[in-house]
Amino acid sequence: MIKNGRIVKSLAGFYYVEADGLVYQTRARGNFRKKGMKPVVGDFVSFSAEENSEGYVLEMESRKNQLIRPAIANIDQAVVVMSTVSPNFSLNLLDRFLAFLENKSIKPLIYISKLDLLDDLQEMTTFKENYKKIGYEIFFDTDSLVKALKGKVTVFMGQTGVGKTTLLNKIAPEMDLETGETSEKLGRGRHTTRHVEFFHVAEGLIADTPGFSSLDYEIDNLPDLNNAFPEIAQMSHGCKFRECTHTHEPECDVKVAVENQEILQSRYDNYLQLLSEINKTRETYAKKRKKQV
Ligand code: ZN
Repeated sequence: MIKNGRIVKSLAGFYYVEADGLVYQTRARGNFRKKGMKPVVGDFVSFSAEENSEGYVLEMESRKNQLIRPAIANIDQAVVVMSTVSPNFSLNLLDRFLAFLENKSIKPLIYISKLDLLDDLQEMTTFKENYKKIGYEIFFDTDSLVKALKGKVTVFMGQTGVGKTTLLNKIAPEMDLETGETSEKLGRGRHTTRHVEFFHVAEGLIADTPGFSSLDYEIDNLPDLNNAFPEIAQMSHGCKFRECTHTHEPECDVKVAVENQEILQSRYDNYLQLLSEINKTRETYAKKRKKQV
């Protein structure tokens, strides 16, 4: 019998496909490997479901987006966990996460942890207002965050020490995750194995993302970087030059908007930093190519 479903877990070469409320253990047929395709958690697939024997993944639908490490496809949104202190709140790191997610067409949700460690909330309140204007949702408490998970596929990301595991244990105790502290004590924890799994939480699906603490920055061209900052992308329609980098060009609406404080100086600075990183990478490649010739 052929069924359609979604891969909810991948472990040791097996793919666990959920269909009609049941989970089927399957393997991928060899022809996927020949084509250089590998099913991942989140893929919508058709598969053979036989009684008393394991099924086979037959076909995969095309993906709307994909993360490489961990391998997950078709993600609706990502919760970026940022702490107020230890590690200190960083707009630079946050903007990197946001640009990464925008580039992947994954909706970012920003969750702020360790608010109780602040004497004064003014700075965080201002931050919240500023980023809300750009269009981002910022959460200061878990109850409202949980509501935002309904009906969505959500992944969680954040730097080491921000309290991502503590947050996940609170909203999804069934995931039974070890916090950094315990896994350090035990050495290599069991979650270090390559094992990706979705959990049903708050009428949505969530996945933990072990090792998802730093980003392999993937934006490598100017149009993508421009689009990864929504307010800059919007303002850039008014720039004189279509390829405006918003640096040295005349009649640049983005620079005007920064001067008028319609675009945050910090956002513009972080955009410039990423731009210079892209240019540096390009120069390095160009030099390498020259040497080869
Ligand atoms: Zn411009």
